[in-house]
Amino acid sequence: MAFELPDLPYGRGGLAPHISEETLNFHHGKHHQAYVTNLNGLIEGTDLAGKSLEEIVKISGADKSKAGIFNNAAQVWNHTFYWHSMKPGGGGAPHGKVAELIDRDLGGYDEFAKAFKAAGGTQFGSGWAWLILKDGKLAITKTPNAETPLTDEGATPLLTMDVWEHAYYLDYQNSRPNYMDAFLNHLVNWDFANQNLADAGV
Ligand code: FE
Repeated sequence: MAFELPDLPYGRGGLAPHISEETLNFHHGKHHQAYVTNLNGLIEGTDLAGKSLEEIVKISGADKSKAGIFNNAAQVWNHTFYWHSMKPGGGGAPHGKVAELIDRDLGGYDEFAKAFKAAGGTQFGSGWAWLILKDGKLAITKTPNAETPLTDEGATPLLTMDVWEHAYYLDYQNSRPNYMDAFLNHLVNWDFANQNLADAGV
């Protein structure tokens, strides 16, 4: 069974004005779709066809000869995770379990926000900023290009922010900091982080 582009968990205009419908038309409709299409073409007729997306990311991530497959599979997974990391009317201070753990492990929300923006801002070129659970504690990481904490044994991704230029160029031009402020203040979906913690048994 070929992979299909998953629907957004909101309408294409649902994140406006912070992320416009035009951005999501391109980012979801063109970029994410292209990763899905490329992945299907690359695995067709191979022993990876029929495996889950997570399995394909892990297998190809451990095999340098499968870098093309990894890049597309990981980008399919990362983008789906990113769409769920945002919601209309999101943003602001966290609540629930993730709020407790941010206080316990990261010095509170203000320190988290500073460190998360620093991770996104210092990712040279394309990549991702992440909030993860690692060895029972919250941590902030960044990854270049398609790299993903999914391949990091013992890491559970909780939230991600796409810092590829295609995520913000139409709305914020070259200002990644303004996009990151909008992500944190108006979009981040803390319910999703809490759901991921609950799924991990935390
Ligand atoms: Fe992207």
